[in-house]
Amino acid sequence: MGISVGLPEGTKVSSYDAIIVGAGYAGAVCARRLAESCGMRVCVVERRGHIAGNAYDCDDEAGILIHLYGPHIYHTTNERVHTFLSRFTNWTDYQHKVLANIHGQLMPVPFNHASLKMAFGDEKGEHLYQKLVSTFGENKRVPIMELRAKNDPELTEVADYVYENVFLHYTMKQWGKTPDQIDPSVTGRVPVLVGDDDRYFPAAPYQGMPEDGYTKLFERMLDHDLIDVFLEVDARDFVTIEGERVLVDGAPYGGEVIYTGPLDELFAMDLGALPYRTLDMEFETLDQDQFQPVGTVNYTTSEDFTRITEFKNMTGQKLAGKTTIMREYSKAYEPGSGQTPYYAILEEEPLALYQQYRARVDAIVNFHPVGRLAEYRYYDMDGVVASALELSDDIIAQN
Ligand code: FAD
Ligand code: UDP
Repeated sequence: MGISVGLPEGTKVSSYDAIIVGAGYAGAVCARRLAESCGMRVCVVERRGHIAGNAYDCDDEAGILIHLYGPHIYHTTNERVHTFLSRFTNWTDYQHKVLANIHGQLMPVPFNHASLKMAFGDEKGEHLYQKLVSTFGENKRVPIMELRAKNDPELTEVADYVYENVFLHYTMKQWGKTPDQIDPSVTGRVPVLVGDDDRYFPAAPYQGMPEDGYTKLFERMLDHDLIDVFLEVDARDFVTIEGERVLVDGAPYGGEVIYTGPLDELFAMDLGALPYRTLDMEFETLDQDQFQPVGTVNYTTSEDFTRITEFKNMTGQKLAGKTTIMREYSKAYEPGSGQTPYYAILEEEPLALYQQYRARVDAIVNFHPVGRLAEYRYYDMDGVVASALELSDDIIAQN
């Protein structure tokens, strides 16, 4: 029915049919579906002072629409996700492009035909490109770790160049490890492209930015008579797990609990803290129309930060004489420090620890962990929405 700050005196959270912890994609999608598909009264609690989770955007002091928790570009191949989200927004036709700053030269990433010619010169670049085409086929996307595994001197030359100049230093900054030491699916998100497409998400038929921003999309999704949103409320103050039961305010709760926060926090990290990477984001407003030619420039061979995003280049906002940019610095997350856990660490030990926490809640029929934090996954927005749609399908089927 509305969004308010804090829980008003006398609010009985346990009187709601469903309690949703977190107002990001995972929570908001479930809230909307449980309210409109089974008439549940839904209480969403969010410990931040705003909705939209990490997708939150707002105007900065210069009046420029910024993404407070890092650049968010919508892209998906999932038609159901796209249809669902499109109920709450129109999309711009923005196609994300990224350049890598390689020793001062800007080259397209994913590394493609044009990058190859910039790196090796026209003639040799073309020759190497033809080699890639005959090996992998045109318009194929080849993860760097797969390219490196090829036993051919020319392919090795390309792989070594891309590994050293695109992946090695950026990955060291982002993860504190080399590409060989991290899960190949991570660098596999940005494969070498055997083709001319210079978009960051060439495989996504649906991509763009929400026409009025992400926060507006969330406002519309959460705008339903049966949904109440309470900001600056931490669910851990009243939701606890006791054996195979969920307690709310100390008493067994029979409604559905959708939990989108980190699972270890719910157990005071008694088995140990789940590791994450966090980011320091440094915003700067400059007195100029434009700073860089594309939305994001990745600094793959120099600097301490990983990338610079210029928001106007992504949102299409027109504002003369001012632009806001943001640098991202990655570091290990310290639990309990107030930092935001942004990236799960996809390694054997953390994943095993996650499974131990997960086993504690799997048997609880009315407790549902969902989302990038609660599932400890490297989800993009569309992956979270897909997961929340599936979960809400199950709950709707049982009600
Ligand atoms: P979140 O957005 O984290 O929402 C969870 C919410 O739960 C948070 O607001 C948190 O405050 C709240 N919460 C947690 N615990 C509690 C509690 N105890 N009580 C109350 N509230 C609680 N995806 C893309 O598709 N494209 C991109 O370009 C893109 N760029 C990204 C850039 C960065 C830097 C990062 C970090 C992520 C990016 N993503 C991108 C991924 C995207 O942000 C996530 O997939 C998505 O926002 C996750 O939604 P969620 O609901 O699972 O989690
Ligand atoms: N990566 C890299 N250089 C680049 C782009 C990506 O090394 O120019 C690697 C790096 O390890 C990064 C991963 O690929 O963490 C995934 O990149 P993506 O841009 O998808 O990261 P996100 O936007 O999720 O932070």
